[in-house]
Amino acid sequence: MEQPKTRYSKQRETIYDILMQDYTHPTVDTIYIEARKVIPDISLGTVYRNLNHLYENKRIQRIDIGDNAVHYDAHIDPHYHIVCQKCGRILDVDLDPSDVALIQKAASNQSHARIQNTGIIFYGTCEECLQSES
Ligand SMILES: [Zn+2]
Ligand SMILES: [Zn+2]
Repeated sequence: MEQPKTRYSKQRETIYDILMQDYTHPTVDTIYIEARKVIPDISLGTVYRNLNHLYENKRIQRIDIGDNAVHYDAHIDPHYHIVCQKCGRILDVDLDPSDVALIQKAASNQSHARIQNTGIIFYGTCEECLQSES
């Protein structure tokens, strides 16, 4: 028989599911609001603890776009981000791995360092904001 899920793992999986379904890279406050719809008595501290746990187990990533907030992303396959400076949205972008390899090689050649990981954030105006401008 399957082991009954503990309260703790249920909370963690709820938070993970919320993130999996959310492509907007929410902050802890947004995740907390969503989590309370499923588990009304969950506390902000519990949401934080579970996010840290998921991060330490490499199931989610944290994104720093320089707005003094930590954004969370359950999509950990390699992808990059575009920040719209008009509406503040964070959009996903897939880059050709060979393009990323070129940038890594250039960085490695310049610095003589071994590159393990690459995070690229682009800043600009998103498609929707561009359309509302014209
Ligand atoms: Zn925008
Ligand atoms: Zn993302």
